[in-house]
Amino acid sequence: AKAQGSGRWEAHRPGSTDPGSARLVLLEQLRAGLRDGELRVHYQPRMHLASGTISGVEALVRWQHPTRGLLQPAEFIDAAEESGVIRDLGAWVLTEAVEQAVRWDARSGPSGLQVAVNLSARQLADPDLVTRVAGVLARAGLPSSRLVLEITETALMSDPDGALTTLQQLRALGVLLAVDDFGTGYSSFTYLKQFPVDELKIDRSFVTGMTTDAGDRAIVASCVHLAHAMGLVAVAEGVESPGERDALLALGCDQAQGYFFSRPVPADAVPVPGGVVGV
Ligand code: C2E
Ligand code: CA
Ligand code: CA
Ligand code: CA
Repeated sequence: AKAQGSGRWEAHRPGSTDPGSARLVLLEQLRAGLRDGELRVHYQPRMHLASGTISGVEALVRWQHPTRGLLQPAEFIDAAEESGVIRDLGAWVLTEAVEQAVRWDARSGPSGLQVAVNLSARQLADPDLVTRVAGVLARAGLPSSRLVLEITETALMSDPDGALTTLQQLRALGVLLAVDDFGTGYSSFTYLKQFPVDELKIDRSFVTGMTTDAGDRAIVASCVHLAHAMGLVAVAEGVESPGERDALLALGCDQAQGYFFSRPVPADAVPVPGGVVGV
């Protein structure tokens, strides 16, 4: 991913022949952008499959770059992670998403809508993380059970023992925990059993193939069974068609996200239950 990333940054700076310098320019711009209010959070609805109602949203960061337009995370998140800028960026996204949940309540009445925020490996290893999460929730006045923290299987397994301690502390706050991109890392059942998580998010790559590929379908079915056997909620990512939705419903998958339901959208366009869309 690193080499791929460098190529991309270089491609956006045709005058530069050194990918390292392009990366430094990007990071400097990102720090400035964070300071100057260029970062945005879009929200992708997550649905209860059986009822078709919205259960929550996932916060996904974007960068309104002054000259390059709206940048997706693929353009800058790896650089932010490698440089440590992700600490400030992640803290900003967390605060923004938690405050937005409170704004939705004020607009539409208490909806119970859950807000999921992504945590990277470096954020998970940050000794200030738990205090920060507790502080953000307390200052905003959001009940901790409304916040879901999504952590990839790969991030969890990069330091499983450290992750276990942090997850236990987060759990003690009352926030919910989800294993993101499940099935793409090297999951150890030994650790999965110990991690105090609430949800498995089945990776989009398996969901995409499940209506045409028997292997992908078997993997999704196994993930749903595993989640339920462990008392966890099964969430499918990347649902793009009614066929995929129906197949997931038939497998007993609980919740789903994907372009079939909605792309990530700005806060005002989220269909909050009881709320008026677009005000
Ligand atoms: P992710 O956590 O797996 O998020 C899901 C990604 O899949 C999002 O891409 C979302 O827009 C996309 N997606 C959702 N439904 C569909 C679909 O039906 N089809 C397809 N093709 N794609 C779909 P996005 O927003 O570009 O984010 C990419 C990744 O960047 C995220 O993957 C996450 O790992 C990372 N990321 C985004 N925001 C943050 C953040 O605030 N903090 C951290 N640490 N990472 C973030
Ligand atoms: Ca995620
Ligand atoms: Ca994911
Ligand atoms: Ca992903």
